[in-house]
Amino acid sequence: MQLGDIEIELVQKDIKNVHLSVMPPAGRVRIAAPLHLSEDTIRLYAISKLGWIRTQQRKIRGQARESKRLFLNKETHYFQGRKYLLRIHFNETPSRIILKKKYIDLHVRPGTSQEQCQVIMDAWYRNELKKIVPQIIAYWQPKIGVQVKDWGIKKMRTKWGTCNIEERRLWLNLELAKKPLECLEYIVVHEMIHILERRHNDKFLYYMNKYSPQWKAIKEKLNSLPVGG
Ligand SMILES: [Zn+2]
Repeated sequence: MQLGDIEIELVQKDIKNVHLSVMPPAGRVRIAAPLHLSEDTIRLYAISKLGWIRTQQRKIRGQARESKRLFLNKETHYFQGRKYLLRIHFNETPSRIILKKKYIDLHVRPGTSQEQCQVIMDAWYRNELKKIVPQIIAYWQPKIGVQVKDWGIKKMRTKWGTCNIEERRLWLNLELAKKPLECLEYIVVHEMIHILERRHNDKFLYYMNKYSPQWKAIKEKLNSLPVGG
C-alpha cells in the first residue's frame, strides 16, 4: 500500500485490532489488520495516522544520523550491548582493537583517516560475530531440529537478519555485534525457525514461543536501541 512517499507493508490476519508499527533501522511501516477490514478502511486508518508515522520515522532516522561515528577520543562506541569510550593510539604497529574495562583502545598508524578507522572497526565487529555466531547456531540446531548450511554477515539498512530457506543460509546484520548477546541470539533463532516455516504465521509464532519465550521483550529492546549505536 502506497501513501504518497510512504510505503506500507500490509498484513491481514486473524486478529481483533489494527496494529501499526514503524520499524528501525530504516523506518519501515507495517500494518497488521483483521481479515474483515476492507483495504479502503485500512487506507483511511493509515491516512489518519500519517502525522504519527512521520514523527516516528524522523525519530528513528535521527537516531541513525546521531550515531555516525567520527572516531574521536572519548566518543561512545558499543559492543555486545555495553558502552565503551574510544581511545585512539597512534603507533607504527599493525592496527588492532583492545577492550579494556570501559575503554575501547583503537591502535592505528599515524594519519589513519576516519573512513579507515571505520573499516578497521567494522572488520573487528565482523570478526567478533564470527567467534560467537557458530556457537549460537551449534547450540540451537539440535534443539530446533534444523541444519544451517551457511551463514554470513552483511551491512543491512532495513533488516536485522534474513534467511534463504532453500539454501539454509542465514544473513546477519553487522550492527548486531553492537547489541546485547540476547538480541543477537533472538535474531539467529528467528532466522533458523524460518527454515521450518517461511511466513510469520501461527506455526512460526508457536516455534518462537517455544524456543525463545522472551522474544517479544527482546525484540522491543532491540528496536528501542539506537540504530548504528
Ligand atoms: Zn522473519
